Amino acid sequence: AEVLIEVKNLKKYFPVHKGFFKRTTQNVQAVDDISFAIKRGETLGLVGESGCGKSTTGRTIIRLYEPTSGEIIYKGTEIGRLSQKELKPYRKKIQMIFQDPYASLNARMTVGDIIGEPLDIHELASGKERLEKIHQLLHDVGLNPDHATRYPHEFSGGQRQRIGIARALAVEPDFIICDEPISALDVSIQAQVVNMLEDLQRERNITYLFIAHDLSMVKHISDRIGVMYLGKMVELGPADDLYNSPQHPYTQALLSAVPVPDPNISKNSKRIILTGDVPSPMNPPSGCRFRTRCQYAMDICKEQEPEFVEIAPGRMCACHLHKK
Ligand code: SF4
Ligand code: MG
Repeated sequence: AEVLIEVKNLKKYFPVHKGFFKRTTQNVQAVDDISFAIKRGETLGLVGESGCGKSTTGRTIIRLYEPTSGEIIYKGTEIGRLSQKELKPYRKKIQMIFQDPYASLNARMTVGDIIGEPLDIHELASGKERLEKIHQLLHDVGLNPDHATRYPHEFSGGQRQRIGIARALAVEPDFIICDEPISALDVSIQAQVVNMLEDLQRERNITYLFIAHDLSMVKHISDRIGVMYLGKMVELGPADDLYNSPQHPYTQALLSAVPVPDPNISKNSKRIILTGDVPSPMNPPSGCRFRTRCQYAMDICKEQEPEFVEIAPGRMCACHLHKK
């Protein structure tokens, strides 16, 4: 399949003003030079602890945040520098769903108007046609079309996430950034939402960037998984390979922390405990950013940043233990 979206050397720094009269400016290096591509119809999972930059990556791709530098290429067009006006046609094609569907839905609007709003903004349907579309979308996400006249507070968390998904689908996007869409849901509901997202992907050939803080959540839905640490991509590869034989010490530690007993893991790996706090992204460690928590850290890890390179076909890793 063709590449749908590509991110090249993306950086997003947030300036923080500190000190007397806030005259000193320091940068939080939330996303620091990451590159990846997603093929049409593919799901790329993106994982890492909170503050690693995974959500910032998603929000920068959709231009909720302006990129500091780098490129965002959608179907061959660089959209990272387009004005908000020039961006409008792309806004339709790239949608986002959020962790907390309640916070992202306007509590004073009916479900029908919430789902219909993107249709209004992009002038896609009005009147009877608009209403039919709303009913169809509710049906598509497994909700009763009669729910269109109700308000978000009348629904459960899982149902609200379905409303958020229906709203994203209204404009017929081909790329959806899912920012921890199941993290706040009951475990029993999580699988339902993931299965629905997969069905929708199959029916509509949608591409996903699926963000989560833990690998077990993305393993099932992802074709490939990227692992981020302190603003950097440290490992990227096919989901099963990465899960069964993690190559970066941070991925290994993340996996050994997976709470659910997994026979595939316990067989061949000992539990690695991640010690120490995540360092500040304002003042990250020199060389390899993971070195302050890495049990394999060597002298070179302090002096030289490991390059993100292909260590096996389709597998990328940034670690001095893996020399080409
Ligand atoms: Fe550990 Fe060094 Fe590899 Fe970083 S580069 S993960 S510190 S071994
Ligand atoms: Mg899939």
